[in-house]
This record gives sequence, structure tokens and C-alpha cells, in this order.
Amino acid sequence: KKFIFVTGGVMSGLGKGITAASTGRLLANAGFDVTAVKIDPYLNVDAGTMNPFQHGEVYVLKDGAEVDLDLGNYERFLDIDMTADHNVTTGKVYQHVIEKERAGDYLGKTVQIIPHVTDDIKRRIREAAEGHDVCIVEVGGTVGDIEGMPFLESLRQFVHEQEEDDFLLMHVTLVPYSKNGEQKTKPTQHSVKELRSIGLQPDVLVGRCETDLEADVKRKIALFCDVPTDAVFSNPDVEDIYHVPLTVEEEGLDEYVLKRLGLTDRALPRDER
Ligand code: ADP
Repeated sequence: KKFIFVTGGVMSGLGKGITAASTGRLLANAGFDVTAVKIDPYLNVDAGTMNPFQHGEVYVLKDGAEVDLDLGNYERFLDIDMTADHNVTTGKVYQHVIEKERAGDYLGKTVQIIPHVTDDIKRRIREAAEGHDVCIVEVGGTVGDIEGMPFLESLRQFVHEQEEDDFLLMHVTLVPYSKNGEQKTKPTQHSVKELRSIGLQPDVLVGRCETDLEADVKRKIALFCDVPTDAVFSNPDVEDIYHVPLTVEEEGLDEYVLKRLGLTDRALPRDER
């Protein structure tokens, strides 16, 4: 089983969810059974109680679960049905851990974020991935948020427990234009530094930008963030988000991900996708 973890840097609303869903679409096109998990690091148990003016419409899954509208992107991009188990919130995790504590399940131990909360997060990810070839795990929010810490720590442990080619860490960041028309890499460098300070080294970087990243900008990002140049991809603005799978496919994102996960041999030939 393969896992792709997707984190976001610099700011929210960047296009991390769409990038993750597009990557999933390309792997599904290559013949794999792909599912997704969206992690929302808020204390609400689900999105049902959240103000739609602040948070966008509540999306309802087939089991009645009220979730973030990002899950709708996954269902549409991947053409799958998801259930409540595919949306992990801080609220759900803590509620479960506290219920277990009240029931005496921890046998008198001190209940802590590490290992009890992180174990529960890892269990949820593994269970949601059960029966699928690839599971895309998107961590909501931005790297560096206090809320996201237990989740990123869980990813760090997860990566440690997994075989090298069974996971891939994709980091989506913003590459803005400066006033004098240059693509700036500093925000990307800072967010990768933040990731690395908590023990996570990205394998793939996706730069959200108005236009394609210039070749020397990709080289610079690669050099400063310690990834190969061919692991840096552009995700430029498009008019219709359903074109994003096509633009990242042109960049070769799918081939890189398949190769990195050791799936190239099992993938459908290009002309059959
Ligand atoms: P995040 O997960 O980073 O919060 P989303 O994936 O939900 O962000 O996308 C945020 C907004 O940006 C959405 O309205 C989405 O339609 C838009 N968006 C995402 N990717 C692109 C793109 N490549 N071009 C244009 N708009 C995009």
C-alpha cells in the first residue's frame, strides 16, 4: 500500500486540495485504486456545526457525514464515494481518545498527545486506506500552525514506520511574483525549512504560481530545499480547475510519483490511460 501525504506552505487557499485530487486522478488513470483522507486540524468534530459563510458549504457524504467541501473535490476528481472515516478532525480524534480514557482503556497510563493521540491518527489513516492501492492524505491548514502539529508528528512517525518507497511527501507552496516581475522562492524555502524542523523532508514540491515556474526558479527551489530539480513542479493558474490534472500531467508529475513509489511497472501504458 502506498501513501501520498500532501502538506501546504505559505498560506491556505493555495490549491493544495486540488493538487492532491489531481495527483489522485492521474494515478487512477494509470489503473490504480485511489482513495483519499482529508485531515482538518480543527476541534469541531465535523463541519456540520460550522458557519457556511465562513467555511463554505457543508458537503454531505453517502453515510450522512457532514464534512468539509474539499471532500467533494476528491469524490468528483476520483469518481469515488467516501465516508465519515475519510475526514479526520482533531475533534474526532480527541473525542475518541477521551472516551477511551473515561472507559479505563488506557489502564491507568498518563494519556498524552504522543503516543495516544498520534497512534489514533495513524490508525485512522491506515483504516481508511484499507483495500486501496494508493491513499492520498491531505493535511489541512499550513505547515507551522499549532493545530496541525499532532498530525505532522503522526506523519513523521508514519514515514519512519513505512518502507522507503511506500510513501511520498508532497509539499504545495506559493511562488509569488515580485513587483519587478520575478518569481520569488523565499516563501517556499521558509515553509520547507519549517517542515524540516519537525523532521519531515518533502520528496516533491509543487509551486502554485500565476504562470509556469521558470527553469532557473525550479533549480533554485531544488537546491535550497534539497530535492532533485525534476521533483519540482509548476501548478499555474488555470481557468477551470478540472484542467489541473492535465497541466500537472504535462509537467510529468504522475510519472515522477509512480517512479518514486515503485509503481511504474504496474501502471497502464500511457496510451491506455
Ligand atoms: P487549499 O487546499 O490549499 O486550501 P484548494 O485546493 O481548496 O486550496 O483551492 C483553493 C481555491 O483555489 C479554490 O477555489 C480552487 O478552485 C482554486 N484553485 C486551486 N488550484 C487552482 C489553479 N491551478 N488555478 C486556478 N485556481 C485554482
